[in-house]
Amino acid sequence: MNSTAETPAAWAEQTAMEQPKDAVLARRCVQQTEVDSASRCWNRSGQANQGYPYIKVKGKRPAVRLLISQIEHRRLNPDSPYPSDMFVRATCNNQRCINPAHLYLKSQHDCGVDDLLPYVPEAKPKPHVEVIKVQKIMQRVTTLKQRFEAQWKKEGEHERWIGGRSHNAPILRRGKYKAAALDPIQMRYEGKVRPLGADEVLIHLCEHKDCAAVAHLKIVKKSEKARARAEIKFLRNKTRDPNGCETFTGKKRASEQQLVNIGSGRHMTARRFAYEIEHGRDAIPEGHVVRTHCGCENCVNPAHLYTAPKGDVARENVQKRESRRSEHATATM
Ligand SMILES: [Zn+2]
Ligand SMILES: [Zn+2]
Ligand SMILES: [Zn+2]
Repeated sequence: MNSTAETPAAWAEQTAMEQPKDAVLARRCVQQTEVDSASRCWNRSGQANQGYPYIKVKGKRPAVRLLISQIEHRRLNPDSPYPSDMFVRATCNNQRCINPAHLYLKSQHDCGVDDLLPYVPEAKPKPHVEVIKVQKIMQRVTTLKQRFEAQWKKEGEHERWIGGRSHNAPILRRGKYKAAALDPIQMRYEGKVRPLGADEVLIHLCEHKDCAAVAHLKIVKKSEKARARAEIKFLRNKTRDPNGCETFTGKKRASEQQLVNIGSGRHMTARRFAYEIEHGRDAIPEGHVVRTHCGCENCVNPAHLYTAPKGDVARENVQKRESRRSEHATATM
């Protein structure tokens, strides 16, 4: 489309002179239009559909670039009908541009191929929309924060969550969906101490699952969670006898030694577990067992425990049994 007009107003006036029937439409098309001096684009502001400016004509909303293209077509080819199977495109790739010199017709087929290529729209940020979006998000964040801060209650050493719960676990709902819920305990801890790593979780040292007191929480590796919880439970549940021995009541196995559930379906003897808690995971050498020197079979006081090679223990047991048998024999003789 080869219009010689330099400005939208000049184009409208030229159209009005040459095609009086299109005068009103042409003037309406170029309203709210400014010329960009660098690109020579005629940028039309105002109502737009998917970025393309339109005006209302007889109850319809044709794109302004289509109207301009039709007016130009009537000027250049007064005897042929407008090709309705063609799309109006702009060489400048600017959706707002209605400069007839930038507009051209492209067949639907070609447009289809063209549209498969990544479309890079003219960088046109909509500042007011962005600002409103950010304000809305900030508003939501502030109300969430206020709601969060208001739902804690001091209880002695503990700092307990009195907000929402799901299956007895504390949650802070972000919206109406459970999937959008946050863990208030973790949020509180992260705010005070440090953010957790991807493979880390918090475990409670106190018995309240809704407590967020920093001293009552501990960061552990995800893979260590079950074991760490078993340790805490173990230390909390063992009782001290007046003679200094400590006992733990758990599951008993055939040999009368208490078993501790250390998670993932695994168990460990309470004595062994107590020794490992005190001296570390690798403290018991390969092939060794943990024994007590206080003589109390169920004692888990680490001060009363020591390790010995399995073989020695078996030999000792055999010796014990034999001496008992010989005692018995001499007694009955
Ligand atoms: Zn343009
Ligand atoms: Zn606590
Ligand atoms: Zn003991």
